[in-house]
Amino acid sequence: KVVIGILALQGAFAEHQSALQKISSPRKVCSLLVRTPDDLVNCHALIIPGGESTTIALLARLAGLLEPLREFTKTKPIWGTCAGAILLAQSVENAKKGGQELLGGMSVTVTRNGWGSQLESFEAPLFVEGLQDSQIPFTGVFIRAPVIQALDSSSDHPPIHVIARLPVGKVPKSEAHVSSDNDNVDPRRIVAIRQGDHLLTTFHPELTKDGRFHEYFVRTCVLPLLSP
Ligand code: GLN
Repeated sequence: KVVIGILALQGAFAEHQSALQKISSPRKVCSLLVRTPDDLVNCHALIIPGGESTTIALLARLAGLLEPLREFTKTKPIWGTCAGAILLAQSVENAKKGGQELLGGMSVTVTRNGWGSQLESFEAPLFVEGLQDSQIPFTGVFIRAPVIQALDSSSDHPPIHVIARLPVGKVPKSEAHVSSDNDNVDPRRIVAIRQGDHLLTTFHPELTKDGRFHEYFVRTCVLPLLSP
């Protein structure tokens, strides 16, 4: 049986748990809410939910989980959604005063709350490479979502695969780092990436009834690393 941990300090962890219960997988998948370093030891993979990234990092430090989580990102499959995506980034802009502790693990720079105040929340249809029935759009739910500012593919980490972008013309308020006339290369439209066995989504797949992202994480990031 495959144990997927869900970091359960704050945020939408319960929704991830019910999403995982519904997926079909060739191996039995069960979930474990992670609140202590001992919980983490029992996990084959981990999901970090959306919520409030500064709070999650603070609670992780108080629980003695920050270093164990950083080690976990080096060797195990991990998926961050929204606030969780911020925590997996290597650097963050627009962090709260007092700073933002990160776990790192993925070679991206994100801007926290990069959609600005009026556009705090929106939904967008996403075509996601590698998803089951990928011709059927997945509804991306964006709630005070971070914006991907840059991908750093020169690092020693595995290559980055962009698996979903916002429709052309949808761009955030946060300023682009590199100006480009070609909307297709604007990193700010990228909303889902996979890097090796790490997955990052700036939106909340757990807030929809569509379990395809959870199935995708298990199938492409987790199962290939386990012995048959
Ligand atoms: N804006 C939040 C943060 O900075 C993330 C929002 C979310 O996870 N829905 O942590």
